[in-house]
Amino acid sequence: MFHRPSHASHSGLLFQTPQSASDPHHHFYQHVLPKKSPPRAPYSTGSGSRPPVPPKELVAPPVGGSDPVVRELKSVSFPRDCLNRFTSIASINTARNRETCGLLLGKDKGGRFVVTTLLIPKQHSTSDTCAMDEEELVMQFTEERSLITLGWIHTHPTQSCFMSSVDLHTHSGFQRMLPESFAVVCAPNSTPNFGIFRLTDPPGLQTILECRVTEAFHPHPDRPIYTDADKGHVQIRDLSLEIVDLR
Ligand SMILES: [Zn+2]
Ligand SMILES: [Zn+2]
Repeated sequence: MFHRPSHASHSGLLFQTPQSASDPHHHFYQHVLPKKSPPRAPYSTGSGSRPPVPPKELVAPPVGGSDPVVRELKSVSFPRDCLNRFTSIASINTARNRETCGLLLGKDKGGRFVVTTLLIPKQHSTSDTCAMDEEELVMQFTEERSLITLGWIHTHPTQSCFMSSVDLHTHSGFQRMLPESFAVVCAPNSTPNFGIFRLTDPPGLQTILECRVTEAFHPHPDRPIYTDADKGHVQIRDLSLEIVDLR
Protein backbone atom coordinates (compact mmCIF):
# COMPACT_ATOMS: atom_id res chain seq x y z
CA MET A 1 0.00 0.00 0.00
CA PHE A 2 0.93 3.62 -0.21
CA HIS A 3 1.30 6.17 2.44
CA ARG A 4 3.14 9.39 2.79
CA PRO A 5 4.78 11.43 5.51
CA SER A 6 2.55 13.61 7.58
CA HIS A 7 3.56 16.98 6.23
CA ALA A 8 0.69 18.86 4.74
CA SER A 9 0.20 19.15 1.07
CA HIS A 10 -2.28 21.03 -1.01
CA SER A 11 -1.39 19.15 -4.11
CA GLY A 12 -3.79 16.95 -5.97
CA LEU A 13 -2.27 13.69 -4.93
CA LEU A 14 -1.91 13.10 -1.26
CA PHE A 15 -0.36 10.22 0.54
CA GLN A 16 -0.76 10.95 4.18
CA THR A 17 0.93 9.14 6.97
CA PRO A 18 0.69 10.41 10.47
CA GLN A 19 3.48 8.30 11.88
CA SER A 20 4.54 7.83 15.45
CA ALA A 21 6.60 5.42 17.46
CA SER A 22 3.48 3.82 18.85
CA ASP A 23 1.85 3.59 15.45
CA PRO A 24 4.58 2.59 13.05
CA HIS A 25 2.07 1.61 10.42
CA HIS A 26 -0.35 4.37 11.10
CA HIS A 27 -1.18 5.61 7.71
CA PHE A 28 -3.80 6.52 5.32
CA TYR A 29 -3.90 7.31 1.75
CA GLN A 30 -5.85 10.00 0.07
CA HIS A 31 -5.97 10.58 -3.58
CA VAL A 32 -7.49 13.94 -4.31
CA LEU A 33 -8.14 15.47 -7.62
CA PRO A 34 -8.98 19.16 -7.83
CA LYS A 35 -12.36 20.19 -6.43
CA LYS A 36 -12.79 16.89 -4.71
CA SER A 37 -13.42 15.79 -1.24
CA PRO A 38 -11.74 15.57 2.15
CA PRO A 39 -9.58 12.76 3.46
CA ARG A 40 -11.11 9.73 5.03
CA ALA A 41 -10.37 8.82 8.58
CA PRO A 42 -6.91 7.47 9.24
CA TYR A 43 -6.48 3.91 10.28
CA SER A 44 -3.64 2.18 12.00
CA THR A 45 -2.22 -1.11 13.05
CA GLY A 46 -1.81 -0.01 16.63
CA SER A 47 1.41 -1.52 17.91
CA GLY A 48 2.50 -2.41 14.45
CA SER A 49 1.70 -6.04 14.90
CA ARG A 50 -0.67 -7.55 12.42
CA PRO A 51 -2.33 -10.84 11.82
CA PRO A 52 0.01 -13.30 10.11
CA VAL A 53 -2.49 -13.44 7.28
CA PRO A 54 -4.50 -10.26 6.83
CA PRO A 55 -8.20 -10.76 6.42
CA LYS A 56 -9.02 -11.41 2.84
CA GLU A 57 -12.01 -9.93 1.19
CA LEU A 58 -14.60 -11.77 -0.69
CA VAL A 59 -13.74 -11.49 -4.35
CA ALA A 60 -16.66 -10.95 -6.62
CA PRO A 61 -16.97 -12.84 -9.86
CA PRO A 62 -15.77 -10.61 -12.68
CA VAL A 63 -18.21 -8.33 -14.40
CA GLY A 64 -21.09 -9.72 -12.46
CA GLY A 65 -24.58 -8.41 -12.37
CA SER A 66 -23.73 -7.01 -8.94
CA ASP A 67 -21.64 -4.23 -10.46
CA PRO A 68 -23.80 -2.19 -12.81
CA VAL A 69 -21.29 0.66 -12.95
CA VAL A 70 -18.71 -1.51 -14.65
CA ARG A 71 -20.80 -1.62 -17.80
CA GLU A 72 -20.59 2.15 -18.11
CA LEU A 73 -16.86 2.43 -17.64
CA LYS A 74 -14.58 3.48 -20.42
CA SER A 75 -12.10 0.77 -21.19
CA VAL A 76 -8.51 1.23 -20.08
CA SER A 77 -5.67 -0.15 -22.17
CA PHE A 78 -2.86 -1.40 -20.00
CA PRO A 79 0.56 -2.24 -21.46
CA ARG A 80 1.36 -5.90 -21.01
CA ASP A 81 5.04 -5.04 -20.48
CA CYS A 82 4.25 -3.13 -17.34
CA LEU A 83 3.90 -6.22 -15.19
CA ASN A 84 7.31 -7.70 -15.87
CA ARG A 85 9.07 -4.39 -16.00
CA PHE A 86 7.64 -3.23 -12.71
CA THR A 87 8.44 -6.56 -11.09
CA SER A 88 11.99 -6.22 -12.38
CA ILE A 89 12.31 -2.69 -11.05
CA ALA A 90 10.98 -3.90 -7.72
CA SER A 91 13.19 -6.97 -7.52
CA ILE A 92 15.83 -5.45 -5.27
CA ASN A 93 13.19 -4.40 -2.77
CA THR A 94 11.39 -7.70 -3.17
CA ALA A 95 14.56 -9.61 -2.29
CA ARG A 96 14.72 -7.54 0.89
CA ASN A 97 11.06 -8.24 1.63
CA ARG A 98 10.07 -4.67 0.97
CA GLU A 99 7.20 -3.42 -1.08
CA THR A 100 7.57 -1.18 -4.11
CA CYS A 101 4.88 1.11 -5.43
CA GLY A 102 4.23 3.00 -8.62
CA LEU A 103 1.61 5.08 -10.33
CA LEU A 104 -0.03 4.26 -13.64
CA LEU A 105 -0.47 7.42 -15.64
CA GLY A 106 -2.00 7.93 -19.01
CA LYS A 107 -4.25 9.77 -21.38
CA ASP A 108 -7.91 10.08 -22.15
CA LYS A 109 -8.21 9.07 -25.79
CA GLY A 110 -11.86 9.94 -25.97
CA GLY A 111 -13.58 6.62 -25.91
CA ARG A 112 -10.98 5.01 -23.70
CA PHE A 113 -8.06 5.59 -21.41
CA VAL A 114 -4.56 4.40 -22.20
CA VAL A 115 -1.80 3.85 -19.66
CA THR A 116 1.34 5.35 -21.14
CA THR A 117 3.62 5.88 -18.18
CA LEU A 118 4.75 4.01 -15.11
CA LEU A 119 5.98 6.50 -12.56
CA ILE A 120 8.04 5.27 -9.63
CA PRO A 121 7.91 7.94 -6.94
CA LYS A 122 10.47 8.49 -4.25
CA GLN A 123 9.38 6.15 -1.54
CA HIS A 124 10.23 4.10 1.49
CA SER A 125 8.75 0.79 2.38
CA THR A 126 8.42 -2.17 4.69
CA SER A 127 7.27 -5.71 4.08
CA ASP A 128 3.65 -4.57 3.90
CA THR A 129 3.69 -0.85 3.39
CA CYS A 130 5.05 1.51 0.81
CA ALA A 131 5.24 5.23 1.46
CA MET A 132 5.52 7.80 -1.25
CA ASP A 133 7.82 10.72 -0.49
CA GLU A 134 7.88 14.15 -2.07
CA GLU A 135 4.64 13.68 -3.91
CA GLU A 136 4.96 17.25 -5.09
CA LEU A 137 7.37 15.88 -7.67
CA VAL A 138 4.71 13.46 -8.83
CA MET A 139 2.15 16.22 -9.12
CA GLN A 140 4.57 18.38 -11.03
CA PHE A 141 5.39 15.58 -13.43
CA THR A 142 1.76 14.64 -13.96
CA GLU A 143 0.63 18.20 -14.54
CA GLU A 144 3.49 19.15 -16.82
CA ARG A 145 2.78 16.16 -18.97
CA SER A 146 -1.01 16.49 -18.77
CA LEU A 147 -1.26 12.91 -17.59
CA ILE A 148 -4.12 11.36 -15.67
CA THR A 149 -3.62 9.01 -12.75
CA LEU A 150 -5.40 5.87 -13.92
CA GLY A 151 -4.25 3.48 -11.26
CA TRP A 152 -1.50 2.28 -9.04
CA ILE A 153 0.69 -0.75 -8.78
CA HIS A 154 2.51 -2.32 -5.88
CA THR A 155 4.25 -5.51 -4.89
CA HIS A 156 3.51 -8.06 -2.23
CA PRO A 157 7.05 -9.37 -1.71
CA THR A 158 6.05 -12.53 0.13
CA GLN A 159 2.29 -12.52 0.32
CA SER A 160 -0.17 -13.72 -2.23
CA CYS A 161 -1.93 -11.59 -4.77
CA PHE A 162 -4.97 -9.98 -3.20
CA MET A 163 -6.24 -6.64 -2.00
CA SER A 164 -5.60 -6.21 1.70
CA SER A 165 -7.97 -4.04 3.67
CA VAL A 166 -5.31 -1.34 3.57
CA ASP A 167 -5.11 -1.66 -0.19
CA LEU A 168 -8.90 -1.40 -0.44
CA HIS A 169 -8.93 1.82 1.52
CA THR A 170 -6.09 3.14 -0.57
CA HIS A 171 -7.86 2.23 -3.74
CA SER A 172 -11.18 3.73 -2.67
CA GLY A 173 -9.44 7.10 -2.85
CA PHE A 174 -8.56 6.49 -6.48
CA GLN A 175 -11.84 5.01 -7.53
CA ARG A 176 -14.00 7.68 -5.95
CA MET A 177 -12.19 10.23 -8.10
CA LEU A 178 -12.10 8.22 -11.29
CA PRO A 179 -14.40 5.22 -11.54
CA GLU A 180 -12.08 3.60 -14.07
CA SER A 181 -9.16 3.59 -11.63
CA PHE A 182 -7.65 0.19 -11.03
CA ALA A 183 -5.12 -1.40 -8.72
CA VAL A 184 -2.43 -3.82 -9.82
CA VAL A 185 -0.89 -6.14 -7.25
CA CYS A 186 2.28 -7.99 -8.22
CA ALA A 187 3.12 -10.99 -6.07
CA PRO A 188 6.40 -12.26 -7.56
CA ASN A 189 6.67 -15.17 -5.15
CA SER A 190 3.11 -16.37 -5.45
CA THR A 191 0.76 -17.85 -8.00
CA PRO A 192 -1.02 -16.08 -9.57
CA ASN A 193 1.70 -13.47 -9.61
CA PHE A 194 -0.43 -10.49 -10.51
CA GLY A 195 -3.95 -9.22 -10.22
CA ILE A 196 -5.78 -6.20 -11.58
CA PHE A 197 -8.60 -5.10 -9.34
CA ARG A 198 -11.34 -2.60 -8.73
CA LEU A 199 -13.92 -2.17 -6.03
CA THR A 200 -17.40 -3.30 -6.92
CA ASP A 201 -19.78 -0.38 -7.26
CA PRO A 202 -21.96 -1.21 -5.47
CA PRO A 203 -21.33 -2.46 -2.87
CA GLY A 204 -17.55 -2.43 -2.48
CA LEU A 205 -16.77 1.24 -3.03
CA GLN A 206 -19.55 2.39 -0.72
CA THR A 207 -18.63 -0.17 1.92
CA ILE A 208 -15.02 0.95 2.03
CA LEU A 209 -15.74 4.67 1.90
CA GLU A 210 -18.15 4.28 4.80
CA CYS A 211 -15.85 2.01 6.80
CA ARG A 212 -14.64 3.69 9.98
CA VAL A 213 -12.59 0.87 11.43
CA THR A 214 -9.33 2.28 12.73
CA GLU A 215 -7.26 -0.90 12.55
CA ALA A 216 -5.19 -0.95 9.37
CA PHE A 217 -5.86 -4.60 8.67
CA HIS A 218 -9.45 -5.46 9.38
CA PRO A 219 -12.24 -7.51 7.91
CA HIS A 220 -15.09 -6.05 5.93
CA PRO A 221 -18.66 -7.24 5.59
CA ASP A 222 -19.07 -10.49 3.77
CA ARG A 223 -19.98 -8.93 0.45
CA PRO A 224 -18.22 -8.91 -2.92
CA ILE A 225 -15.98 -5.95 -2.11
CA TYR A 226 -13.64 -6.10 -5.08
CA THR A 227 -13.33 -7.84 -8.36
CA ASP A 228 -10.95 -8.55 -11.20
CA ALA A 229 -10.80 -5.55 -13.50
CA ASP A 230 -8.79 -7.25 -16.23
CA LYS A 231 -11.78 -9.37 -17.05
CA GLY A 232 -13.78 -6.17 -17.15
CA HIS A 233 -12.85 -2.71 -18.34
CA VAL A 234 -9.06 -3.07 -18.14
CA GLN A 235 -7.60 -4.59 -21.25
CA ILE A 236 -4.02 -5.81 -21.36
CA ARG A 237 -2.51 -4.79 -24.67
CA ASP A 238 0.83 -4.75 -26.43
CA LEU A 239 1.55 -1.06 -26.03
CA SER A 240 4.65 0.98 -25.48
CA LEU A 241 5.32 2.02 -21.92
CA GLU A 242 7.44 4.84 -20.63
CA ILE A 243 9.00 4.34 -17.21
CA VAL A 244 10.07 7.27 -15.11
CA ASP A 245 11.86 6.56 -11.87
CA LEU A 246 11.99 9.56 -9.55
CA ARG A 247 13.98 7.78 -6.86
ZN1 LIG B 1 -1.04 -4.65 -0.87
ZN1 LIG C 1 -12.32 -0.77 6.25
